[in-house]
Amino acid sequence: MNAKKGLQALSLLLIMALIGTMSVPAVSAEEENDKEYLSTPLIIFEGSTKQIDASQIKSDLKIDNTIEKYDLVSFDIPEIRNEIFKKGELPVCIQGKQYSMILNELLVNDKGVNPETHSYNGYLKGVDNSNIVLTISESVFLASIIINGEEYCIDSLSAKDPSGDKYHIEYMVKDIKIEGNYLYGIEDYLAHSTMSDDELKIRSEEAKIEEKEKATKSITYVRILVMTDAKWIYDEPDWQSKAQLIIAQANNQFGRSDIQLNLIATYDSSKASELAADAQNLVQNPLDTFINHVDVSYLNSKYADIAVYLGGYDCTNPNWGVGATWGYDDSDPSDRRYAWVQMADDPSPYDPNIHDRTVASLHEIGHLFDADHQDGMQGPNQESYNRAYQWNSGSTTQSVVWAPILRSTSYEYSSNDYNGDYYHNNALRIYNTRNVVRDYYI
Ligand SMILES: [Zn+2]
Repeated sequence: MNAKKGLQALSLLLIMALIGTMSVPAVSAEEENDKEYLSTPLIIFEGSTKQIDASQIKSDLKIDNTIEKYDLVSFDIPEIRNEIFKKGELPVCIQGKQYSMILNELLVNDKGVNPETHSYNGYLKGVDNSNIVLTISESVFLASIIINGEEYCIDSLSAKDPSGDKYHIEYMVKDIKIEGNYLYGIEDYLAHSTMSDDELKIRSEEAKIEEKEKATKSITYVRILVMTDAKWIYDEPDWQSKAQLIIAQANNQFGRSDIQLNLIATYDSSKASELAADAQNLVQNPLDTFINHVDVSYLNSKYADIAVYLGGYDCTNPNWGVGATWGYDDSDPSDRRYAWVQMADDPSPYDPNIHDRTVASLHEIGHLFDADHQDGMQGPNQESYNRAYQWNSGSTTQSVVWAPILRSTSYEYSSNDYNGDYYHNNALRIYNTRNVVRDYYI
C-alpha cells in the first residue's frame, strides 16, 4: 500500500468518527487491500512474536513457492517455553481472535533423546473442534493448529536474523497452491501378498476381538528409528525437530482410545553420509536402497521395532510415489519393518510443508500396522475392515491412509468411533496389530 491510500483510509476514519451516527459501510475492495497491508501476523504470541518484512531480507529464505500467503516472523522462544512449562497454557491470537492453548506434553522420544525438545498436543479452550500439535526446541517452534477443519502451521526456516533467532513462517494449508498431477495408481503398500491359511485364520480371529478387548486396553509402546540422509540435513538443519513434530502427530492420533499406541522415537543421522553417497539408487528405489544400507541387525542394535527413512531426495522413478513400505503383509518378515517418506518437493501436488509431510508419514507408518487404502485387500477371506474412509463435513476429507495423498487428507485414521464405520476402521486394524509390531525387536 502506498502512503496516499493510507491517508485516504485515515481520512475515512476521521469522517466516520465525526459522523458518529452514520452506519458502518460494507468493507470495500480497497479497504480489504489496506487491511492486508496493515495486517498483523496470522498467529501471534503476545510479546513474543516479531513480524519481519520478507522483502527486506537479502538472502534466499528457501520458502516453498507453492505457499502463496505467509507471514515471516521470529519468536522469543525462551519466553514461549517458560509460559508452556509454567502453566501448560499458552495465550495466542489467530487471525485477530484471542484463544488460549491448553497443552499436554506428549511422550515422543526415547529416554535421553533431544531432552530440550518438547512436544505437546491439545486444543483451544472453549473451541470444540480444535486440535493442536506442537514441538518446541531451544531455537525452533513448529506447530499444526486445526480449527474447524482449517489448519494453521508454524514452520522454521534455515535462515537466522542478525541476532541469531531462526526465521519462522506462519501459513494456512488452504493457502498452499495445488500444482502438478496427483499420483494416482501408484501402489505404495507393496506387499498385498497372498496369505497362508494359517495367517488368514489369525487375521480373522484378530478381527473378532474388537468389542471384547475394549475394556482391557492399555498402551503399547513401539520403538521407531527415524533416519535421514545428508541432503535433508543440509537443506533443513532443524530436520530433527521437524521429524519430531511428525512423530508427535502420529502419537496424537495413536493416542486415541481405540488405538492406544505410542511410538518411541530415536533420531539417527549416522547413516546420513552413506545414504547420500548412494543418491543415484535412492532416487530410483528409495525403500530398498534404505533397507540395503540399514539392515535388520542394525535396527536390532538400536532396539528399534520399525524404521522410517525421511529422505531429502525427490524420487524420480515414476513407479514410486512419495512414500512406500513393503508393509505388514510382506512375505519377508524383516522387510515389514521399514518405511520411506520423501521430505523433498515433488512434481506432484505433494510439497515440503508440514501438512503434506505429516500425512505421507502417518500414511506409511499406518501401513506398517496394516492400515490399508480405501479399496482394502479384497482377496477371498482377507480382512476387509482395515480400509481408509472419506467423509463430508462441509468439504470432502479423507482419512490418512487414503490413496493418493491429497491436500484435503486429514491426519486421522479411519475409525468406527469417529470418521469411518465397521468396514473402514484403520484404528481397529492398528489396534489389532500393534502388539505384533511391538515384538519385531526381541
Ligand atoms: Zn499407501
